Amino acid sequence: IVGEEEIQKVVETMRKGDITAAGGGGVMQEWEEAFAKYSGAKYVISTNSCCAALHMSLGACGVGPGDEVVTTPYTWGQTVAPIMQQNAIPVFADIDPKTYTLDPNKIEEKIRPQTKAILVCHIYGHPVDVDPIVKIAESYDVKVIEDCAQAIGASYKGRKVGTLGHMGAFSIGDGKNMVGGEGGMVTTNSEELYERALLVGMHPARTWREIKNPK
Ligand SMILES: *Cc1c(COP(=O)(O)O)cnc(C)c1O
Repeated sequence: IVGEEEIQKVVETMRKGDITAAGGGGVMQEWEEAFAKYSGAKYVISTNSCCAALHMSLGACGVGPGDEVVTTPYTWGQTVAPIMQQNAIPVFADIDPKTYTLDPNKIEEKIRPQTKAILVCHIYGHPVDVDPIVKIAESYDVKVIEDCAQAIGASYKGRKVGTLGHMGAFSIGDGKNMVGGEGGMVTTNSEELYERALLVGMHPARTWREIKNPK
């Protein structure tokens, strides 16, 4: 899972001392730009895990104490843990027995005034049927967050996962499709959600440099 090319790049980067996204430029910016190009997302933020990426996305979407997030009961625990880390309440909707992903027909009945987001998971690399879910979300003014931890490279109707809803969260942890030791990424096409995610998760140097709309 780790080739000679990766080892060389790590050694080269460590020799340069250029190992943080906080300073701007360097290997982290290179990586975020490469992943933006690959995923088709306008904005990418690298994180220490997908769990952190989901946590930042939930915060960016305004999920807070007592709010509800409709999500899938069939996933890895870290889809649900960040909802509770925001002191919000996971509300499980049923899955499609053929794909094991959230059934778009089972979501609307779970939406209440305190619902702030729908957190879908592309389990085993199988993309959720997300267009009808985005339609429901938009009619209730709630956000769709995609857990893409198991689905780097998966696509739906010609678009890559992580760009189908409002925000995406990826993992490059051990055992995932693409392994970087531990780590993850937030993806979004929304400048506002990008800036909000930076505020939730990042170093002040990066927020000072990159946030254009401080209000
Ligand atoms: C692995 C996984 C996560 C968590 O990823 P980390 O990078 O380990 O935090 C979240 N959701 C799903 C579906 C996963 O498989």
